[in-house]
Amino acid sequence: MSRYGAQFGPDITFLGVPPCDWGEPDSYRDADVVILGAPFDGGTSHRAGTRFGPRYIRQTCYLPQDGSRPSLALGVDGLRDLVVYDAGDVEMFSGDAARSVRDLQAAVYAVARTGAIPLILGGDHTIAWPDAAGVAQHLGAGRISMVHFDAHADTGDIEFGSLIGHGQPMRRLIESGAVRGDRFLQIGLRGYWPPPDVLDWMAAHGMRSYEMSEITARGLAECLSEAFGIAQDDCDGVFLSVDIDVCDPGHAPGTGTPEPGGLTARELLDAVRRVGYELPVVGVDVVEVSPPYDHADITSFLANRVVLEVLSAIARRRRDARDGGRWDPRRPLLEGR
Ligand code: MN
Ligand code: MN
Repeated sequence: MSRYGAQFGPDITFLGVPPCDWGEPDSYRDADVVILGAPFDGGTSHRAGTRFGPRYIRQTCYLPQDGSRPSLALGVDGLRDLVVYDAGDVEMFSGDAARSVRDLQAAVYAVARTGAIPLILGGDHTIAWPDAAGVAQHLGAGRISMVHFDAHADTGDIEFGSLIGHGQPMRRLIESGAVRGDRFLQIGLRGYWPPPDVLDWMAAHGMRSYEMSEITARGLAECLSEAFGIAQDDCDGVFLSVDIDVCDPGHAPGTGTPEPGGLTARELLDAVRRVGYELPVVGVDVVEVSPPYDHADITSFLANRVVLEVLSAIARRRRDARDGGRWDPRRPLLEGR
């Protein structure tokens, strides 16, 4: 058995979905989605604590633990209309980033090659490198696009003397060829990092980064539509990486490197729903939730709902592809009942 279970805290699964072992494909043969925890915070540059993220994202919900979470907005139940398993945590070694990254990529690849969507709960953003690389290992180098929600570009080269850290995963993905720079869509950047030499590197690799002032001036919906067009061009799938600090610290205080002036929780949920419904998602991670810095579980509740929102949207996308339907957000809730 390669299943490690919960590394920190009780051995629970995401909202009670059935457990599986990522190293035993027979244990999730019929899966649409396999959840993996990656409780790694050894790549953090400021406040730590994201090793407790998977535990809190899994458990922070007030609804009965019966595996039913029907979405009012989408009219589907992501945990029932999709077959979802939770493989527990991949054991992480916060003092050994290279080993953690290697082991996590092996787990993500094992899931991706079965055709299931790996959904990884972080952990700091270091894990986006093995997460997307594991999917690219299955679908082919340069064949997936990345839609990346974050206050930060995470394209640093060497930070604190290391190539591996939460400020650098996107650079490693592009340098390694796993993801093409010109299929990289970043949403929500702001603040005072990175410096000009890093911005030059990003431009040279054709990245498209939507800073908050552009999003405010043009509107989030228009920016997303443009980004989705680029993401769907010449690719075989989209990886969605959500750094919870894309939201304003008032909406997501429990994170390591908060940057004022971000998206609202509402905007992030709307955006993630659009990604799941409009794009061919092949992998997801939700990262940088640091429960020790949270207040009233605000950030953990949001991350839990980000996961549910993307699952619900994927379920609705598949249902509509099957039935020829089309989700209309303008339709009144009770119409036709
Ligand atoms: Mn990040
Ligand atoms: Mn960030």
